[in-house]
Amino acid sequence: MEQQIQLLAQLAAVDEQLDELHDELGDLPQEVKKLETLVKERLMEVETTNQALADLDHLRATAHVTMQESQDKEQRLSKQQFQVKNNREFDAITKEIEHLKHERATLEERLRTAGVREENLRQTLAQQDTLLAEAKEKLTDKERELAELSGDHNDEMRKYIDVRLKLIAKLDDSLEVEYERIRQFHSNAAVAIRRNSCSGCYSAIPSQRIMEMKYQRDKMYTCENCGRILFTDDVEAEIDAVMEEHS
Ligand SMILES: [Zn+2]
Repeated sequence: MEQQIQLLAQLAAVDEQLDELHDELGDLPQEVKKLETLVKERLMEVETTNQALADLDHLRATAHVTMQESQDKEQRLSKQQFQVKNNREFDAITKEIEHLKHERATLEERLRTAGVREENLRQTLAQQDTLLAEAKEKLTDKERELAELSGDHNDEMRKYIDVRLKLIAKLDDSLEVEYERIRQFHSNAAVAIRRNSCSGCYSAIPSQRIMEMKYQRDKMYTCENCGRILFTDDVEAEIDAVMEEHS
């Protein structure tokens, strides 16, 4: 049992490292995802502005033909107006002519303001390009950070998992099950007694009980307050020693 409790202490030390490694990646994957979304959004903004500029070009390129077509149509309608059979037809053509005139006025207004609009759009585009470049740079940095971390990270993980498997192979199945059961509630399922207290929940352990633990090495003790497996500080395992012993 003494060896079993030592194994548990070693397992706890290894699991602490594994938990830390797991936390280390932390928010990084999420930050990368957020930046990816930001880049996409900014790319869409740039595309929208580019589209508006293209629309403006199209408007200018076709304005002459559109105007001519509208004027030709108005001329034809004006001629027709003299051949109508009743007031209703006359009014309908009048309305159509008014509509054409209104359309041309709108087009003329848009052409008149096209220069200013283009200038505004180009300014907007320049700002959006800068923002996009910034977001892309941040994303590249974070992606690199994540890739580097994941690489080292995986190597280290593998080392600890390897030792963990060796420890578990030596540990009694019932103890392993109990340890894993407690792990569901407390990541540190087996803890040392420090300053006469459980180092998991800091509740005091009677010194009588600590004495008992030191002399009865064949019994497993748990904290009455939090349920964690307890071991005396002389059993506590140092991670470097654990790794050296088992690699
Ligand atoms: Zn406790």
